[in-house]
Amino acid sequence: MPLVSMRQLLDEAAKGGYGVGAFNVNDMEQIQAIMEAARETKSPVIVQASRGARAYAQDNYLYHLMLAAAELYPEIPTVLHLDHGNSAETCKSAIAMGFTSVMMDGSLLADGKTPSSFEYNVAETRKVVEMAHAKGVTVEGEIGCLGGIEDGHGAGLDGLSHLTDPDQAVEFVKQTGLDALAIAIGTSHGAYKFSSKPTGETLKMQRLIEIHNRLPNVHLVMHGSSSVPKELQDIINQYGGKLKPTWGVPVEEIQLGIKNGVRKINVDTDNRLAITGAIRKVFFETPEKFDPRDYLKPAREAMKKVVAQRMQQFGQAGHAADYAPIPLAEMARMYATA
Ligand SMILES: [Zn+2]
Repeated sequence: MPLVSMRQLLDEAAKGGYGVGAFNVNDMEQIQAIMEAARETKSPVIVQASRGARAYAQDNYLYHLMLAAAELYPEIPTVLHLDHGNSAETCKSAIAMGFTSVMMDGSLLADGKTPSSFEYNVAETRKVVEMAHAKGVTVEGEIGCLGGIEDGHGAGLDGLSHLTDPDQAVEFVKQTGLDALAIAIGTSHGAYKFSSKPTGETLKMQRLIEIHNRLPNVHLVMHGSSSVPKELQDIINQYGGKLKPTWGVPVEEIQLGIKNGVRKINVDTDNRLAITGAIRKVFFETPEKFDPRDYLKPAREAMKKVVAQRMQQFGQAGHAADYAPIPLAEMARMYATA
């Protein structure tokens, strides 16, 4: 199966009432972990690369590894998505490389740090929508600002300081014509999301529900949605790590979001924790080992377990064979006539 459009995956998820995890990758082992989890749980999947990942791995490596994934897992509808594109130029280069979906994050200026104006965000996102839809490629935009910083991207704000305004969200969707909308409801990037266990009030779920009621046909995206499980933190600390106590987004809150229009859930930190814990364990228990496969194999396995668990929790499990992929050229025709 060729790499597919994210719009189609999210449309199908909306019909089925489930969410789809979007997992970040930087290397071959992470791609393998995701694809194995997808096969095991029969899940459609979104694989995403940030600008940091593209700089680390180089586009050609990432893209060709993803082509290998599509070849080796023909039964899995797989999207290659750009996470947090900072400019129309960045999105353009991803589309040229073969990404089937891009995020234009115009909530920040091109420096990836400074909150932008509404007008700037509309203009940049609109530009990307025109360019991407002509090729059948999906566009995610963002309104409001997420908390924290990841891979050098983010204003480093508190997650609650720039929440999405529902009126602006409606206007933003109307003026840009995007496919999926990332909203700020109090989540943050990185491992240190909350300094105490979140209660039902920590995340602004009411606001999410209000946005969904106003935009019932728009696919909502939750960023910074790792759950940062204590078990994964403990493994790292047990084998010499020094993580400070921290709390992530409870899976039940994500599931409430899924009931209210959330179709894409971004998870990165949980996988990073799983990988690092598994590697530390091997180093600690068998310090005589020096073959990288001795620690990369358990690391890959640990990430696969987390991804498979999220696929079950988000509800995408069992849905890989529900539909035949629509070619990007056909998606482009559909956008042109919509
Ligand atoms: Zn994000």
